[in-house]
Amino acid sequence: MKYYILFGPPGAGKGTQAGAMVQNFHLCHISTGELLRSEIAAGTPLGLQAKSLIEAGELVPDEVVEGMIEAKFDAVKDVEGFLLDGFPRTVAQAEALDAMLAKRGEEVTAVVSIMIPDEMIHERIRHRAEIEGRADDARDEVVSNRIKTYHDKTEPLIGFYNPAGKYHEIDGTGTIETVRNRIFNLMNNF
Ligand code: ADP
Repeated sequence: MKYYILFGPPGAGKGTQAGAMVQNFHLCHISTGELLRSEIAAGTPLGLQAKSLIEAGELVPDEVVEGMIEAKFDAVKDVEGFLLDGFPRTVAQAEALDAMLAKRGEEVTAVVSIMIPDEMIHERIRHRAEIEGRADDARDEVVSNRIKTYHDKTEPLIGFYNPAGKYHEIDGTGTIETVRNRIFNLMNNF
């Protein structure tokens, strides 16, 4: 099984690119953001716990997302691998993922990192807010806090995966097709 991590700041285009990636490489897409938004929409206790954190631009507790990921690994069959989108987002989550995979005799295949400059993040998220109406996209100060959370808590993952040669960065600027081609060129090597 392949275990890809789709990495990058909010608004980098992870969700946009994920569809083509899972189709082309026969993967199961697991987006923790989407899973959390469906818990919120369904009004579950987990959703209630997550809502205020997400709407403040903070992360939900590690154990919550780790549990969601492991449940998916257990449930999904008949794929060639997984595309993890939005997970891991902290070094503790990356360590938990390594442990989960080790139990299965597996390991992370590669981190595919889509990079865009901070200025572009605001621009793209403002545009997405008009289309998708996500509560955490609506306010500039929440978006700024998500960017800060990304730099503080998530960016250190680069140092976690780089020494193992698993971290691969691609330029996320340009058209959707251009970025997709860069990603496919990279993934064809694994
Ligand atoms: P974005 O596209 O901005 O990166 P996501 O849809 O991936 O956003 O996630 C939305 C929000 O859900 C995050 O800002 C965070 O509050 C929460 N979230 C998603 N994944 C995780 C995770 N792995 N750990 C903690 N919180 C998470």
